[in-house]
Amino acid sequence: MQYDPDYEPKMPVGAVRGDIRRQDYCPMCHVPRYYYVDEPRTCVQCGEAFTFGAAEQKHWYETLQFFADSIAIRCLDCRKQQRGKVAITRQLVAALAAQARSPDDPACLIEVAEARVRYREAHGTGALDSGLAAARRAQKFWPDQPRAIFWEGRLQELAGRPVKARACYQRFLDAYSGQRGLQPQRRHAEEFLASE
Ligand SMILES: [Zn+2]
Repeated sequence: MQYDPDYEPKMPVGAVRGDIRRQDYCPMCHVPRYYYVDEPRTCVQCGEAFTFGAAEQKHWYETLQFFADSIAIRCLDCRKQQRGKVAITRQLVAALAAQARSPDDPACLIEVAEARVRYREAHGTGALDSGLAAARRAQKFWPDQPRAIFWEGRLQELAGRPVKARACYQRFLDAYSGQRGLQPQRRHAEEFLASE
């Protein structure tokens, strides 16, 4: 089957012209897109209706050259969230690789503990024990390290052990002396201690 790349069918109102030379499709299985129209869709993740817009489709199939079968199944918000999840997974994989190379480096251990927390927060699943072990091991090499203590507390909290979490957050606040970049953690610890 041959498609004429210069064919210009009459387009519906609001449609965007397609350039089939730029599209990746199989002429046996697909009809190339001579034009794009807004497509109403339902997000597989949140169930909300969204529009897979004509201009966005042209970007997918001609600029990014996604294969003709690809189609938006998530709304924009869920796609952003999904990208965030992918980044968090990469962060965990990188932290575990760094820990494997330098098992006694407290900075690497703290990275693993934090990455385990972020992963659980984003995905709702994932092991916490190896994060806890990493946070404790980091404190063995680097006692009173507020970052390590905080992530131990957060992991205890996620594991459903509020008493242990409280003890960690208290130790964290005692060890904290205004270190940069730990303000959100301080706020979290204070709120947790005030809440129970
Ligand atoms: Zn959605």
